[in-house]
Amino acid sequence: MAARTPGVCELLAEARCLYGEVFGGGAPQVAACAPGRVNLIGEHTDYNQGLVLPMALPLVTVVVGSQNPGMDVTVVTARKDADKPHRVDFSLPSNGASLPPGSPQWANYVKGVIQHYRGRPLQGFKAVIASSVPLGGGLSSSASLEVAFYTFLQQLIPDDGDQVSKAVACQQAEHTHAGVPCGIMDQFVSVLGQEGHALLIDCRSLEATPVPLADPNLVILITNSNVKHSLAGSEYPLRRRQCEEAASILQRDSLRDATMDQLREAKGRMDEVIYKRARHVIEEIQRTVQAVDALRKGAYKEFGKLMVESHNSLRDLYQVSCRELDQLVSAVLEVDGVFGSRMTGGGFGGCTVTLLQAHAVDRAILHIQEHYSGTATFYITTPSEGARALALS
Ligand code: ADP
Ligand code: MG
Repeated sequence: MAARTPGVCELLAEARCLYGEVFGGGAPQVAACAPGRVNLIGEHTDYNQGLVLPMALPLVTVVVGSQNPGMDVTVVTARKDADKPHRVDFSLPSNGASLPPGSPQWANYVKGVIQHYRGRPLQGFKAVIASSVPLGGGLSSSASLEVAFYTFLQQLIPDDGDQVSKAVACQQAEHTHAGVPCGIMDQFVSVLGQEGHALLIDCRSLEATPVPLADPNLVILITNSNVKHSLAGSEYPLRRRQCEEAASILQRDSLRDATMDQLREAKGRMDEVIYKRARHVIEEIQRTVQAVDALRKGAYKEFGKLMVESHNSLRDLYQVSCRELDQLVSAVLEVDGVFGSRMTGGGFGGCTVTLLQAHAVDRAILHIQEHYSGTATFYITTPSEGARALALS
């Protein structure tokens, strides 16, 4: 059945307990949390300045900690599945020098956030991280860690308080310190997500519009394939380059500015693969517009149909799906009460997202278990709140 995931209170208790163990019994002064996300539709469109429709998850990263007198920093993660060691010690550079990435890899997300933090001067601190977001599962544990950490720092040293700059700083952290050239979606929804709403993000204007999604008869089921093919690391930057190439042939700043008519007209001037990539992006942006309309009307069947079209396009045109994700989607679409399903996130493994009637969820999970060749993990989710400070009473 669905995975039992600890809530914010439980994670906070875990982090406080570990803080006491590691730092000799003291209590943390401040705490913050930020969610992972699932993208409902609009995949591989964010770095093309397109539209995306993610929602924040009830799966979160919590950070607790306190200021240190000097410039020394200690950070500990409670996650046993993060690369070792689980504790890192370093000093904040003085005189505006940069804080270089290093080892362990997980600490680079933290160092990147420190580097790009928009409040100064930073002072040393000690912190503990606890999280319920699966690591590397495509639900953006990385953005939830960055945004939770940024929100934690805001409790210690105030920044300029601008939400968009906060998301951008966290994205920068991932670029410069984790070496992942991600789009803005994950950090944005982790900062600005709202309970009971999906978030339409225009990745060009950085405008975010909440779209109500709080129907008690509806469930958003996330299925983790629990596979991650190594292709993901190299194919993502390749897709970005292919999109840039298509935009350049079309003489546009980005594929956001291109239409299908223009693409068809330019077909003879581009490689077939580049054409397919561009077609996915242009049509996926259109699908996202249609999906928002469908959601506003409560037209879930229509929304589900668009999800399936999105999956098929990611599989056939963008070529970022894999056997396991295709299996999960095909299996769940055979169940009565399922509106639609698709792979979500970068691809080559990770999760699928399925929109279905609440009464169908147990049957859907059983059916997937019977038909999936691997072992899946399930999360029954609702659109949740974005990053926030937590009270330590
Ligand atoms: P995703 O964002 O889809 O979960 P990524 O590969 O982008 O996958 O990010 C996962 C990485 O983020 C982990 O391998 C780890 O380095 C880091 N990370 C995320 N959350 C934590 C955490 N709670 N503790 C330690 N590292 C974390
Ligand atoms: Mg990530």
